[in-house]
Amino acid sequence: MPELPEVETTVRGLQKKVVGRTITRVWTDVPERIKNKQAGDSSDFAAFQRAIVGAKIKEISRRGKYLLFQLSRGLTLVVHQKMTGHFLVGRWRLVNRKWLPRPDCSLSNDPANRFLHLVFTLDNGQQLALSDARKFARIELYPAEKFADCPVLKSLGPEAWPDLNFNLFCHQLRRRKGKIKTVLLNQEVMAGLGNIYTDELLFAARIHPLTPVSSLSSGQMQLLFRAMKRILSSAVAHGGTSFSDYRKADGQRGTYSRHLKVYGRYNQPCFRCGSMIQRVRIGSRFACFCPDCQSAGNFPGKKR
Ligand SMILES: [Zn+2]
Repeated sequence: MPELPEVETTVRGLQKKVVGRTITRVWTDVPERIKNKQAGDSSDFAAFQRAIVGAKIKEISRRGKYLLFQLSRGLTLVVHQKMTGHFLVGRWRLVNRKWLPRPDCSLSNDPANRFLHLVFTLDNGQQLALSDARKFARIELYPAEKFADCPVLKSLGPEAWPDLNFNLFCHQLRRRKGKIKTVLLNQEVMAGLGNIYTDELLFAARIHPLTPVSSLSSGQMQLLFRAMKRILSSAVAHGGTSFSDYRKADGQRGTYSRHLKVYGRYNQPCFRCGSMIQRVRIGSRFACFCPDCQSAGNFPGKKR
C-alpha cells in the first residue's frame, strides 16, 4: 500500500504534469467507488461527471496517505489509493472498454500500469489515470470548504514528515497504550506510516515491534524519531518503494526497495548481524524484524 513517501512522490510527479490543466472528460468502470459528497453520499456518476468536467486542477497536495486535488468551482477531490491504486499520466485510447497505451505513450509496459479504472482526459490530450488492480481505491468529491471536515481527514494525527518535532512525536506516542508497531501504524497518532516504514524504522532504532510504548526509554524515543526522519527523507528522495503495485506518475518504480533492511525479507539474513529475519503477526499484518538486533531487552548503550 502506498505510504507517505509513495504518496509524496505521486504528488510531486502530478504537480509537474497536470496542475493548470482542465478536465475535459471523465470515465470509470467502478462508479460505486466514486462518491459525490456534494450531494449527500451519492455514487451517481453522471452527477460526478457534470461537476468535474470543465474544472481546472489548481493544486495537488497530500494529507497522510490521502491525495488532495484542489479544483476550480470550489471542489476538492480526496483520493485514498488503498492497496494497489496509483496515478499515472500518459496517453491511452479506449478499445472495447479497455484503455490501451497510444504509440506515443511513454509509460513502460509494466503490468501494474494496465488496470485503469478511472481516467480523466485533460485539455492537452493527456490523461490522468488511476491504475488499481484490486479496485479498492476510494474517490470522494467535496465542496472545498467542507473537505477538511470529512471524517477520515479529521481524525488524522500530525504529519510524520517533514515538520514533526520531537516533543510532539513523544506526546503523540506516550498517550497511547499498546505495542510500538501498532501505535506507529495508527493514523490518529501520526499520519503517513504503514507496514513498510514502521518495520524499517523499528529496525533502525533496534526496537522489537512488540515492545510496549510505555517501556521505551527516552533514548529509544530519540533513536526512533531520528530514524523516522532519516528513513522517510531517504524514501522520498528515492521515489518510494515499489514492493508491489505502486509506481510513480511516469509509470516507473520507486527505488527505495533496494534499501529495505527488514520489510519483505522474512527468512533472509540480517544485513547487520546475519541472523534470519523473523516475522510476528500483529492483528491482520506481519511485522518483520531481526531477533538479535531488535531483541526485547535491547536498550541503547546496553552491552550484549
Ligand atoms: Zn540483526
